[in-house]
Amino acid sequence: MSTVVLDNVSKVYPGGYLAVDRMSLRAENGELLVLLGPSGCGKSTLLRMIAGLEEVTEGDLWLGGTLANDLAPRDRDVAMVFQNGALYPHRTVRGNIAFPLEIAKADPVMVRERVTELSKALHIDETLERRPGTLSGGQRQRVAMGRAIVRQPSLFLMDEPLSNLDAGMRTELRMEISSLVRSLGVTTIYVTHDQVEALTLADRIAIMNRGVLQDLGTPGQVYNDPATAFTAAFLSSQQLNLLAATVRTPQNQFILLDFGPHQIMIPWTDPRAYVISQHVGHQIIVGLRPDCLAPVPDTFEGPTFLGRVRALEYHGHEWLAYVESGLTSVAVPEPPDPRRGASGLGASPLAVGRVRSVLRRLVPGNLFDGDAEPQQEQEQVSGHHRRADLIVRLGSRPVWRAGESARVGVDVTRLMLFTMDGARIDPPQR
Ligand code: ADP
Repeated sequence: MSTVVLDNVSKVYPGGYLAVDRMSLRAENGELLVLLGPSGCGKSTLLRMIAGLEEVTEGDLWLGGTLANDLAPRDRDVAMVFQNGALYPHRTVRGNIAFPLEIAKADPVMVRERVTELSKALHIDETLERRPGTLSGGQRQRVAMGRAIVRQPSLFLMDEPLSNLDAGMRTELRMEISSLVRSLGVTTIYVTHDQVEALTLADRIAIMNRGVLQDLGTPGQVYNDPATAFTAAFLSSQQLNLLAATVRTPQNQFILLDFGPHQIMIPWTDPRAYVISQHVGHQIIVGLRPDCLAPVPDTFEGPTFLGRVRALEYHGHEWLAYVESGLTSVAVPEPPDPRRGASGLGASPLAVGRVRSVLRRLVPGNLFDGDAEPQQEQEQVSGHHRRADLIVRLGSRPVWRAGESARVGVDVTRLMLFTMDGARIDPPQR
């Protein structure tokens, strides 16, 4: 068992591509930490740096309290499973799983016992005398996992181990990985681009985009109380409504989120009122999941958007309505293109600085010390604005028809508020 600490770790590939940009986080002893993010965001690079397969360009990597930047991979006590867990084709399943112990010249009786025990936990005990060529994809991944974990490493690293399997097999193996690593108590870092996999497996999730840490917390925390607009959008199963609004305080009576054709009032009694009022006169981004919007009757007196139903979409378990209401939507704010890394580390602009200052609160300890804060606040509008439909969840019955006028009620308590560069205005409570 081992803790893993990344302290401002960056990776620049030859040619200047900044694949990981000053990541700081800590995986606790026995924790299952999932690295989640879109393809190309730097997850595998980070995992490979922890394994010692890639050099750390800048920052410190600590494994179990030892500075590990220059430690050879074989001295890290780390086991890794990849997407295509390559097996030795001429060895049986038993021979594959036993291989690391045989290399270490372990006692053959102990090896036999350990392989049998592990193969039962992985539900491949019936296949022990077969060769990999005769196994299904799911069985091969189980063997790869058995081989990785048989010598009881301090740290288990998994890089998209389920992505080549069909949906049913993925669900089954996902549950088994979860119970296996928890019963062994081994610290595990698991890479995936699949939000469902992350939410169902993780003790905590670290969300990345373009090499930058976007959020860190338990599945419930990052889903319900995301630190950034990117996290909120990436974890939404239906497309998140991201709307531009200007903050006003008419006669100081209340806070008004002015969306142009529509306004929403926030009373001074709202716990977020003070922090929102710091943005008076500025544009902010309001995030609304489709399930915090609902059709309401004309008599409804709460906050509403009015519009016209442009289309309805059937999703089996629910209907979604696309409502034209003249609102301005905003693209998800992103960190700068990593190719800018060619100009050197520490060159990231303001947007990354603000996202970092929100994250500073989430990462315990002094991991962010020495990280320069932006000195000057600027009004910076990132992402492009466009008119777009409001997406509203209707449940299993479509109460509206296309072309009808629509009155959409808004659950103000579930509004998510971000600066234009995507950092939460009211930082998450963790
Ligand atoms: P992920 O695992 O999130 O899909 P990776 O860590 O594999 O992302 O890659 C992050 C970025 O770094 C990608 O744009 C990828 O093309 C780039 N990259 C990965 N390996 C190398 C390499 N050896 N040389 C140059 N660029 C690389």
